[in-house]
Amino acid sequence: MLDLSKIKGFLIDLDGCIYRGNNLLPSAKEFIDFLHRNSIKILFVTNNSTQLPLNYYQKLRDMGINVSEDEFLTSGIATGIYLKRWKDKGKAYVIGEEALKEAIIKVNWEVSDEDVDAVIVGLDRNFTFDKLKKASLLIRNGARFIATNPDKTFPQENTIEPGAGSLVSAVSSASQKRPIVIGKPSPYIGKIALSKLGLSNNEIVILGDRIDTDILFAKRMKSLSFLVLTGISSKDDLRKSKIKPDYVFKNLSEVLEFLQKKLK
Ligand SMILES: [Mg+2]
Repeated sequence: MLDLSKIKGFLIDLDGCIYRGNNLLPSAKEFIDFLHRNSIKILFVTNNSTQLPLNYYQKLRDMGINVSEDEFLTSGIATGIYLKRWKDKGKAYVIGEEALKEAIIKVNWEVSDEDVDAVIVGLDRNFTFDKLKKASLLIRNGARFIATNPDKTFPQENTIEPGAGSLVSAVSSASQKRPIVIGKPSPYIGKIALSKLGLSNNEIVILGDRIDTDILFAKRMKSLSFLVLTGISSKDDLRKSKIKPDYVFKNLSEVLEFLQKKLK
């Protein structure tokens, strides 16, 4: 099924695949080195809009992994690219944190709360009733409703926090409109990722730890999928889910072994 000679890139999720919280997972470094050595392009794709590629780049470098800053794509950066492709310049009301606002400003859009073209909703740990009201009125007045990502929860080391998707649901209820979703499993971020790599959907593997996000994303992209069981989804979830990955691995060590055999 897998013809590795045709695979020219990997879209890789971060948390639960490369590290868990602040702990690097076994064989992550060797796996990344292996892909680089075999000229397989890498793009780390994350739905978290509260961090910039630079933050992830530094985190991985600090963990001893050899990467470059342009190997990262966040849902915030993808939202900026989406806006730029829609309109060269515009105004957006942003429910989100600094990194998301920076991503919008970076593409020469203005962050504003009047006469906006778009309302963008990402994770905002200072979400308020006033922000909800503002966003829903702007959407009712015709602004395009854009969600960075649909994740309802955001698992942390010892707890589960509400994710951007929970805020998106609130805005959706108040405005009675459904958003355009940019992050995984939406193909929007996938198309942006492919254009960044200069590859097509049948030349990549999508690797992740979450069936309802990463593997569903791969299905929508019609790309090969690898599930690793070092993060959120368990064997039990896999049994119950209708979404089936092409390959399942206990961890990255198994992925590496599998790829090494394929290349021989
Ligand atoms: Mg993950």
